[in-house]
Amino acid sequence: MAGVDKEVEGIEAPRGTSGLAKDELATKVVAGMLASRIVDIKPQLDFTTELGFVYPVVEQTASVKGKEAVAIVESLTERGILRRSYFDRLLRCPRCQSINLRPSTHCPKCGSGDIARGRILEHLACNYVGVEDEFATKGKYMCPRCKLELRTVGADYVSRGVLRKCRDCSEVFGAPMLKWRCLKCSSLADEDAIQEVNVYAYTLDEGQRNWLEFELDPKVRFLEFLRHYGYKVTENARVKGRSGAEHKIDMLATRDDGIITHSIAIGVEISRENIGLERILDFDVKAYDGGIHNKVMIIIPKLGEEAEKFASHQRIKVFEPRDLETLLSGRPKAGHTGAKEPFEFKSKSQLVQYLEKQGYKVKEDAEVKGRSGATHTVDVVATKEEGIITHRIAIAMEGAESPMGLGKVFDFDDKAYDAGISDKVFIAAPGLTKEARQFAQRQGIRVFEVDRL
Ligand SMILES: [Zn+2]
Ligand SMILES: [Zn+2]
Ligand SMILES: [Zn+2]
Repeated sequence: MAGVDKEVEGIEAPRGTSGLAKDELATKVVAGMLASRIVDIKPQLDFTTELGFVYPVVEQTASVKGKEAVAIVESLTERGILRRSYFDRLLRCPRCQSINLRPSTHCPKCGSGDIARGRILEHLACNYVGVEDEFATKGKYMCPRCKLELRTVGADYVSRGVLRKCRDCSEVFGAPMLKWRCLKCSSLADEDAIQEVNVYAYTLDEGQRNWLEFELDPKVRFLEFLRHYGYKVTENARVKGRSGAEHKIDMLATRDDGIITHSIAIGVEISRENIGLERILDFDVKAYDGGIHNKVMIIIPKLGEEAEKFASHQRIKVFEPRDLETLLSGRPKAGHTGAKEPFEFKSKSQLVQYLEKQGYKVKEDAEVKGRSGATHTVDVVATKEEGIITHRIAIAMEGAESPMGLGKVFDFDDKAYDAGISDKVFIAAPGLTKEARQFAQRQGIRVFEVDRL
């Protein structure tokens, strides 16, 4: 497990409940439960320990002791991974915290522990009240106060039943007062002063199983995969939408390729049942509003039929568990670090070289078939296949006598749209008019204004 922390370093600290994989000890316990090596976590009472109870499976699995084991299961409960159920209540000595306590009974009037229990008799002649033993002498009942013999029950004496009598203050009572003697520090504590501690048992919340199985293995490798391709990954990324709304995206992977910055919105949907249309729609809307056109969803266990159609129509690349395994187990292509230096246009051949150095396949004067059926010619199309996504950049190079108006930019945008290419670069010599520049920005076209082509 030592490798886990190393693998996720460099990725921004996650917020919320994710990032379990970073908690190495808790991970060991959860992994044990997922693999059914641990069925449930039950306490074992052990008076020799500080807490008075231990969780042997947690201590063994995570190599921890006492309070550390409790901290692990409690943090997992807080995260909603474990469910807690009442197991027992322990009483603690208020002075030394020991749970090694013994109950002792006391006189409710004077507090003395010197009390006798037995049948209580009352001698009606002198009103003396005492335990049967006090009266019994040589096979007869003699009153210890007036020394007369007791003869007939109901006539000269009565029985009040089995009760207790204080030997110190002579009080007769039914229920004694309960106190606790600590066997460790010998102090005697009133019942009200005793500290009570609940002890719990824990089980895995089965509703979380699919999510946990993803979190503990494929996710760590998936992040590593993205990093291999030079992406910076932010988990639970907050993305400001064009609508003004702020969206939370499970993972946002970005890489600056100099000429363009790639962003991939990655949604993770995990459930016990098939994932329905609603979840996909929600993700798609967020990505659209956030202006992110590379959309990837990790779906566990699988998409419903309707959702699948929608995802395909919206160009959302879906990875179900088997696809994800294929992606992650394949030998990754050469690594990538993104652009070393910012892109600066010098010539078309320099542009081609710049792209090729970053692993793009470059086609000049590329013919691209559009959805409309028309074939378009694009100055440069650069393609890069990364397994998770295929990046395709359309690059237009236009020159004119003076800054160009909307027309050329509009035509290029139209072509790219028809060709289904959303990474768009427009290189303009000597530049664009303000209006054209604004249009390009709105359409997500990256513009480079240069002196000459
Ligand atoms: Zn008497
Ligand atoms: Zn008493
Ligand atoms: Zn004590």
